[in-house]
Amino acid sequence: TLAGKRAIVTGSTSGIGLGIARSLAEAGAEVILNSFSDSTEDHALATDLATEFGVTVRYIQADMSKGDAARALVEKAGGCDILVNNAGIQHVARIEEFPTEKWDAIIAINLSSAFHTTAAALPGMVKKGWGRVINISSAHGLTASPYKSAYIAAKHGVIGLTKTTALEMAGKGVTANAICPGYVLTPIVEKQIPDQMKTHDMDRETVIKEVMLSRQPSGEFATVEQMGGTAVFLASDAAAQITGTTISVDGGWTAM
Ligand code: NAD
Repeated sequence: TLAGKRAIVTGSTSGIGLGIARSLAEAGAEVILNSFSDSTEDHALATDLATEFGVTVRYIQADMSKGDAARALVEKAGGCDILVNNAGIQHVARIEEFPTEKWDAIIAINLSSAFHTTAAALPGMVKKGWGRVINISSAHGLTASPYKSAYIAAKHGVIGLTKTTALEMAGKGVTANAICPGYVLTPIVEKQIPDQMKTHDMDRETVIKEVMLSRQPSGEFATVEQMGGTAVFLASDAAAQITGTTISVDGGWTAM
C-alpha cells in the first residue's frame, strides 16, 4: 500500500497520466493531478478521484513548458514522495521542415520539465530517506522513427536524466526509473485513427493493425491501466533495488 505517500503526476488530466494517477490513488497514495489548464473539469476530476478511491486528490495548474512553473508545482504540492514525469506532446515533420518553436516546446515539456520537477522534489525525498522518480519515456526513448526528431531526442534524453538521477540518489532510498510504453490507445492516439483511415483508405481495424501496431509484435495496444500497474510496482518495496533502468511495456516493440 502507498498510504502516507504523496504522488505528483504531471500531465494527468487524460491518457497515461490519468491512468497512473488512478492506479496510485487506488493503491492509497495522495495524488496531485496537473495540467496547463485551470478549468472546472480539471478540479472536478480531482474531486471524483478522491471520492472513488477515498484518498486526498488535488489539482494544481502548472505549465510544464516553463521551468519555474514546473518547480512551483512541487512547492505548491508541499513536496512529494513519488514523482511521475508524464506530461508530453508530439509533432511530426521532417528535420529540414521541423518548426523551431515546436522543437523548443517538445524539449521543454517532454524533457526539461522532468529536470525541473526532479530538482525541486529530490531534497524532500533525501530528507525522508525514501523517494521514487518515475519518468515516462517511450519505445521512442530506445529506438527511432523518421519525422519525430524532437520527441525521440527528448525521450532518449529522459532516459539519460533517469540514469543520472539514479546514480546521484544511490544509497539514499530514492530510485529513478523510466517506463517505456509502446502504442497506448489514449485520446491523442484515438484522434489520429479517422485521419489515418482517410489517408490510407482503410477501415478502423486495418489502420490499427497495419499502420499503428505494425511495430508492436503483440498486435495489441498497451493500456493506461498497465502503465498504472507498472508505476505502482516501481513505487513498491519490491522495486527498492530497481534503479537507473527502463521498463518497456510495449508488446515486444523493442525486442525487434
Ligand atoms: P495525452 O495527450 O492523453 O496526455 C498528455 C497530458 O499532458 C495531458 O494531460 C495534457 O494536458 C498534458 N500536457 C500537455 N502539455 C502540457 C503542459 N505544457 N503542461 C502540463 N501538462 C501538459 O497523451 P498520452 O498518450 O497519455 O501521453 C502521456 C505521456 O506518455 C507522454 O509523455 C507521451 O509522450 C508518453 N507516451 C505515450 C504513448 C502513447 O502511445 N499514447 C506511447 C509512449 C509514450
